[in-house]
Amino acid sequence: MNDNVNHLPQVSDPFMSPKSISVVAPAYNESEGIIQFHQRLSTVLHKLGMKYEIVFINDGSKDDTLDKLKGIKERDSHTSIINLSRNFGKEAAMTAGLDLASGDAVVIIDTDLQDPPELIIDMIDKMKEGYDVVYAKRHRREGETFIKKLTAHFFYRVIQTLSSTRIPADTGDFRVMSRRAVNQLNRLREHHRFMKGLFAWVGFPQTEILYNRDQRFAGNTKWNYWKLWNFALEGITSFSTKPLKVASYVGLGTATLAFLYALYIALQKIIFGNPVAGYPSLMVAILFLGGVQLIALGVIGEYLARTFSETKNRPLYIVGDYFPSTLSNESIHTGTSHHEAREIELK
Ligand code: UDP
Ligand code: MG
Repeated sequence: MNDNVNHLPQVSDPFMSPKSISVVAPAYNESEGIIQFHQRLSTVLHKLGMKYEIVFINDGSKDDTLDKLKGIKERDSHTSIINLSRNFGKEAAMTAGLDLASGDAVVIIDTDLQDPPELIIDMIDKMKEGYDVVYAKRHRREGETFIKKLTAHFFYRVIQTLSSTRIPADTGDFRVMSRRAVNQLNRLREHHRFMKGLFAWVGFPQTEILYNRDQRFAGNTKWNYWKLWNFALEGITSFSTKPLKVASYVGLGTATLAFLYALYIALQKIIFGNPVAGYPSLMVAILFLGGVQLIALGVIGEYLARTFSETKNRPLYIVGDYFPSTLSNESIHTGTSHHEAREIELK
């Protein structure tokens, strides 16, 4: 990423009334629903009456999602396809899409129709009131278990306590962003991409609109509890170093208690001549401290591992094939404010 291009504030940014819109849509094994998705989305984009492109990212799908996308592209020149060389995960797929999107406004949407495309119209209206980012906040979670809802709620509580970046609760990636917000977001090249946090970190006027999250149109979610747990760890370690400090305070507390206890035992021996307590208390103390130390090491390990993978500085994703849309080709030729950055990214 070229810093000289992207860190400049875009003074006359057209975000108040975007003239073109890019929709970034990551797809991993979405073959069953992708055509319906494209139809519903296209209807909405036609209604908007702006220039548009749909940037599909095929994130190493194992089914025939790519063939379906190629079929769509043959019929509709508004579509771009970024075919990643393998499955890099949704975060990397979105990043690829954001890097190559060329519109004044950029929408991120899931391809499983859980994010209703119709909402984009309301989002753009809201954006015109002067917001750089309009994100969709769900007020009902259809088809999700009680446990999932509970853990999600708990997660947002924890991260809000630990992090100084305000990360809005119950929001996914479904949102529209102005060109300047996207340009700034594209400067964040960290590998552990907790996107909700990155979106919030970038700042600019942001607002929410409420919606009901639908059930998946087809196929299955790629989430399970182990993945969710790791996702939560990602969020916490990316946006807070407080867990590292906990060890110091636990250590301080334990040391103080140990000192007091030692004093107590010594006095008992001197004043009352009681025999020194033996095996059970010793065992408890050793096991307790051993446990605390291992937990602290584990916490350090989590951060260390992340530091390790950041220092390797590998690319965030690898593009196998790229089939640009007409909008994308146009903006390369007319030279809009952001195309230089995109060209650099393409090299
Ligand atoms: N996705 C992706 N790469 C992955 C996993 C998911 O691009 O490795 C896409 C997927 O095709 C969908 C979106 O990310 O468009 C959300 O995925 P999913 O529906 O599994 O997540 P959920 O909606 O359950 O949070
Ligand atoms: Mg989904």
